[in-house]
Amino acid sequence: MRPNNYLLKNLLLTMALLAIALSTSAQSRQRPAEANLNNQLMQLSSPAEDLLETDENIDIRFYHLHIDVDIENEKIYGDVYIELTAVNNLNQVVLNLHSDFEITSVGEDATSWTLENNLLTLGLNSSFNVGETVKLRIVYNGNPPLAPGRFINKGFRFDRHSNQTVPAIANYSTPYLSHYWFPCKDGPTDKADRVWVDITIPDESYNGQPLMAVSNGVLLNDNPPVENGKRTFQWRHEHPIVPYYILVAVSNYVLIEDQYENTVNGNSFPLEFYAYPQDIVDANSAMVKMHDIMDAFIHYFGDYPFADEKFGMTQVPLSWAIENQTNPIIGGFGENWADIIVHETSHMWFGASITNQTWQHVWLNEGFATYAEALYKEFSSDFNIEEYHTRMRAMEKRFNDFPNLYLSDDSNYDYIFEEIYYEKGAWLLHMLRGQLGDELFFDCIKSYAQNPNFRFGHATTEDFRDHCQAISGKDLTTFFQQWVYDFAFPIYSYDYLTDDVSGETTFTLFQRQNAIWGDREVFEMEVDIKFNFDDGTSVIERVVNNAVEQQFTFNFGKAIQQIEIDPDEWIIREIRSHKKEILAFNVPEQISSEINQEEQTITITVPFGTDLSQITPTIELSEKASVAPESGTPVDFSEGNVVFTVRAEDRTTKEYTVIIEMAPNSENRILSFAIEGQIEETVINDETFEIFVTMPYGADLSDLSPDIQISEEATVNPQSGSSVDFSEGSVIFTVTAQNEDTQEYSVTVNTSSENDLRIISFTITDQLDETLIDHEESTIHVTMPTGYDLTDLAPVISLAGNTTVDPESEVSVDFSTGPVEYTVKTQDESEQKVYTVTVENLLRDGDLIIEFSVPDQIGETSIDDEENTILVIMPTGADITEITPEITIS
Ligand SMILES: [Zn+2]
Repeated sequence: MRPNNYLLKNLLLTMALLAIALSTSAQSRQRPAEANLNNQLMQLSSPAEDLLETDENIDIRFYHLHIDVDIENEKIYGDVYIELTAVNNLNQVVLNLHSDFEITSVGEDATSWTLENNLLTLGLNSSFNVGETVKLRIVYNGNPPLAPGRFINKGFRFDRHSNQTVPAIANYSTPYLSHYWFPCKDGPTDKADRVWVDITIPDESYNGQPLMAVSNGVLLNDNPPVENGKRTFQWRHEHPIVPYYILVAVSNYVLIEDQYENTVNGNSFPLEFYAYPQDIVDANSAMVKMHDIMDAFIHYFGDYPFADEKFGMTQVPLSWAIENQTNPIIGGFGENWADIIVHETSHMWFGASITNQTWQHVWLNEGFATYAEALYKEFSSDFNIEEYHTRMRAMEKRFNDFPNLYLSDDSNYDYIFEEIYYEKGAWLLHMLRGQLGDELFFDCIKSYAQNPNFRFGHATTEDFRDHCQAISGKDLTTFFQQWVYDFAFPIYSYDYLTDDVSGETTFTLFQRQNAIWGDREVFEMEVDIKFNFDDGTSVIERVVNNAVEQQFTFNFGKAIQQIEIDPDEWIIREIRSHKKEILAFNVPEQISSEINQEEQTITITVPFGTDLSQITPTIELSEKASVAPESGTPVDFSEGNVVFTVRAEDRTTKEYTVIIEMAPNSENRILSFAIEGQIEETVINDETFEIFVTMPYGADLSDLSPDIQISEEATVNPQSGSSVDFSEGSVIFTVTAQNEDTQEYSVTVNTSSENDLRIISFTITDQLDETLIDHEESTIHVTMPTGYDLTDLAPVISLAGNTTVDPESEVSVDFSTGPVEYTVKTQDESEQKVYTVTVENLLRDGDLIIEFSVPDQIGETSIDDEENTILVIMPTGADITEITPEITIS
């Protein structure tokens, strides 16, 4: 069975929206959320009719159905004859039939009936012993109910094609919905040995084509006569069949006929397509291809099981196909149905001939039919295996990791045909081919299809497994356990190391699936490893992998460039990177960065003075790895080394210790250069590295001790404070940075000219601030303490040139009455300069102290402006010998 996915897309979209509404947290690998979602969906559409109960005391042998189809009233009148064998002694038989029908009579061995809860209980005319044949006749009628479904409501449908003008009636009965239209022992477990289906329909024509009724097997009467405006088509199928593969289809069919002949095995049988008149061009094209499809499956699976009858396909008006025995129904014959025609054809071997024992093993039907689609690609392309691989790789649902391939609960008819059973089922066969190799695998498949224990009967997963074990001689217990009964699939990663000396390569294969979700810790598989070498050659080595981490050694004698795990994709798996190297680690302004992969250390040198508390590295990692702390985020290195943890895609980690080292200071500057008594500011030229100092006229330059300030961590020679002779000319001072870089400065000390009229210094004992000398304005200002007697002061004066000053240095002068003029003259008195010298007390008359405070004082200061007193209280024992008050004056 297979819905046409392209045509179902809109419907699925609606389903997806419903799923989103139910659970916003559903994600592909969050199994608990998915399980929850599935449960909710199941509850939504899980009617009570799902729970199929069957009578295990009976073994059905023969159904003879007579269905009179009342198209106008969408009603059927059924008259069903059943033969069965008593499996236990019995005096009643329970069949499945929907309670909506009305029983009008029962006959043969049946004498009474009750129809409740979709169970038809028939009382028998006597007791029957084990092995005895029971014959039943049930006459009933009703409008067939439909079973609500996600995609279509299944059952016996009265549809129409050609804009709703032409009847298109068919039953859709998989997986156990036959009792929605006839009394039977429903479900897969009990095959009748044969079935006869007589279908009575009105003698009507549509678009010039009379209505025709189609069923399984062969048509007994090609052109049934008209009786009472009706015609009865009698179909005979003489092979074991489950009830849900019994077909009734009615429309204005055109029969497209052909004869299939196989020159290899001699199979020969009719091909019959029942198509709508408007689709006969498509049907004729499809019929041409049918020969190749049959060739393919007879090649792979052996004799067509129903070669003594026919293979047909019958058109229905829905986007649907069901593998009804010898006569699948299908929505169309056009190119978009090509894969589905292939799929349904293969179901004749798997589904119809060999039927899943229960729907729990549905993958034996759908996995085989889906796999057959890929096999056909291979066959029809002259065995181009790439065509096969392309089809297999397109089956994305193989990665569904929930549920597993074994359908533990098959009680909901609507959830039996989930895509995982198709695509993961197909991949199980693909993987088996990968493990066994072509010869053994195809041997297994063909002999399974033809095995008399299963042919025209049933099989379970274990039947198929045991068969493959017997044919291949290999123990496949673990293979089937892990792929059918366990969840998910392996996630591989790898690492390798080649020894420089021996040339031996140690290859490590890892499995990193999610054990916390119940995934197997180890999938045991033979895995192909492809080694691509530097010289352009490659080799595939197959390893038997049965551990989470497993080492294999090889000696190839050449350098490996690249490795591929399972390069041809013979396994449902994911490959993840094991790589977790820091490839580059850089910080702004860095001087160097060195990565030691062996030691897992990174050493970064940053310039002297870098703030280590805010280093923002840029980190380059091997593909698909991540790192914490992240690249581009500030990291505090001020407390020492920081460990960076790199996480590979396969979730393994590697730690790198990052060491940040501060480079020695490279600064080698003279920041200041002062000589006591110098009369002008020092000139330091940072471009020419020259320094100029001017001393007064006549100063002795042979023994000067400059006070030098230099860059941090640097040294200078001659040292600061040491005696240097500048009398012979410029002196070289060499500054050596912490990093040993040197810089020479040429220092020149001059004396001023003989006729320099400047006063260089003017100091008075007890003066408060530094003297302010303004050579341009020719003013000098000195501040003395408040109340200091200014009448008798003797300033000490030094002069720049060979000059005299009047009043002379250290001569007592009265400054109390205002500024005093000091006149500087050259020796020949040809030039002179007059300085106006003002000496003042700090406070003048009328100044008031408005604030006065002392550190640590207790309480507020009390200032009495009348008594001119200030009172400050200090704590007991406070040292009051040296107090620095803060004073604010008005
Ligand atoms: Zn199918």
